[in-house]
Amino acid sequence: MPTEPETEYDETLGEKFVFVTGGVMSGLGKGITAASTGRLLANAGFDVTAVKVDPYLNVDAGTMNPFQHGEVYVLKDGGEVDLDLGNYERFLDIDMTSDHNVTTGKVYQSVIEKERAGDYLGKTVQVIPHITDDIKRRVREVAEGSDVCIVEVGGTVGDIEGMPYLEALRQFAHEQDDEDILFVHVTLVPYSKNGEQKTKPTQHSVKELRSIGLQPDVLVGRCDDPLEPKTKEKIALFCDVPTDAVFSNPDVEDIYQVPLVVEDEGLDEYVMGELALTERVLPETRRDNGWRELVTQEQTGSVDIALVGKYGLEDAYISIHEALKHAGLAHNVNVDTEWIHSEGLADGHDGELDGADAVVVPGGFGSRGTEGKIEAIRYARENEVPYLGLCLGFQLAVVEYARDVLGLEGAHSAELDEETPHPVIDILPEQEGIDDMGGTMRLGAHVTEIEEGTVANRIYDDTTATERHRHRYEVNPEYIGDLEAAGLVFSGQSGRRMEILELPDHPYFLGTQFHPEFRSRPTRASPPFVGLLGAALESTDSDAPTGEVEL
Ligand code: GLN
Repeated sequence: MPTEPETEYDETLGEKFVFVTGGVMSGLGKGITAASTGRLLANAGFDVTAVKVDPYLNVDAGTMNPFQHGEVYVLKDGGEVDLDLGNYERFLDIDMTSDHNVTTGKVYQSVIEKERAGDYLGKTVQVIPHITDDIKRRVREVAEGSDVCIVEVGGTVGDIEGMPYLEALRQFAHEQDDEDILFVHVTLVPYSKNGEQKTKPTQHSVKELRSIGLQPDVLVGRCDDPLEPKTKEKIALFCDVPTDAVFSNPDVEDIYQVPLVVEDEGLDEYVMGELALTERVLPETRRDNGWRELVTQEQTGSVDIALVGKYGLEDAYISIHEALKHAGLAHNVNVDTEWIHSEGLADGHDGELDGADAVVVPGGFGSRGTEGKIEAIRYARENEVPYLGLCLGFQLAVVEYARDVLGLEGAHSAELDEETPHPVIDILPEQEGIDDMGGTMRLGAHVTEIEEGTVANRIYDDTTATERHRHRYEVNPEYIGDLEAAGLVFSGQSGRRMEILELPDHPYFLGTQFHPEFRSRPTRASPPFVGLLGAALESTDSDAPTGEVEL
């Protein structure tokens, strides 16, 4: 009897898990390695999701200082999470929720709440099994319904905080079929002074993993260059994996090239083979999303952007950098973003902005550096330099307009100057009296209604936009009439809240109360950023064609 032809999809296989740990030191880019592998599995036709485990005690990243920890990334459900989730959303082109970020704070909070509710009555509540069970439950819940779930454990193997998670992974391996689970360990392979690739740190880190009962299936060595065959052989021998399970992840110019490196090395094929996924893939569905073409296309010009902020750390504005890059991909130009310290601009040193084709003022909290940001906004408005203001950059554009066009001396945001005679930006009514700082801002995706015939309408090509928010302050309704009479257009609104502003007589002057950067993807650049670059290209002498951009 003829058998049914094999189909692409076998529902009975259930979810597969790829656990990614890191060794030797943090900041190796294991998140990018993991996200890149995920991208390739998605290209192969699988439904891929991801979980980021952060072993710190904070419940979420919302109260962390971007200066120390990088940007706080905002999800559509309002989750304030680690910036690594942004990388997963960008690489996998998925929308995650706060459940995709497991923190020690969340785990202990729920276990302790259950203990107080009497759920464990009579029992001693312990790390094993109660904490580890909660960790496993969270991972399984997120994975449900997808083909592959990538679980990245933050930090480095050996950290005290990470122990319960590694123990949970060990139990996972015990409970799951071998072919449903894969352990990938990412380590550093440094060069010695005489130019030799050294494997000892990797050996030590794997020894540490094995001492807690975890044997990695795959090893990825981060190195300046690809690993030499003899380095791979040595790692394989000492860490007890086949040589073809050792991969390199050499430095590349741009993170979006990492999937290409991973693919060239064959890591995706290996992962699929180990997870028995290979036979589920239909050849024609493979690698068809044009990622390689997109990130290797030849650029036809370049744009200089001045990003005027107070945090001198690239990670503090990572989603803005990425959104600018995505807009560059849409216009086929290279984007050169220079961070300009807002405190240095307070006295009106316009010279620093002279070379910029466009100015961006990002979000922020607190008064440090705000006068410099206002100065940069004034410069962009008066000199017809394309401008994009994001959240605080939107609010300060209102302040600048109130001061310099409406003539309201001392106008400010009530957040930054409690004594201001003209609080043109004021606290959201529902925020008054809130003392708890964690997770209490106006957060997550909200719909903005866009007025037809405006710049916002043109760039979004729509009469609504659903973008992510994170703020406590907004335009004070008492000043809206005067601001509009003086020429400021609020082209996007959400109920009585002002969400988008623009200036009709300017090449491009746009502010958004929301953060469009959180929804930007390499394959779907964010409209306000694409619009900014389009205007910048038009107003520069550059002979670069602006290209046909579909929004
Ligand atoms: N500090 C401002 C507010 O809370 C702006 C916030 C932001 O830029 N994310 O409204």
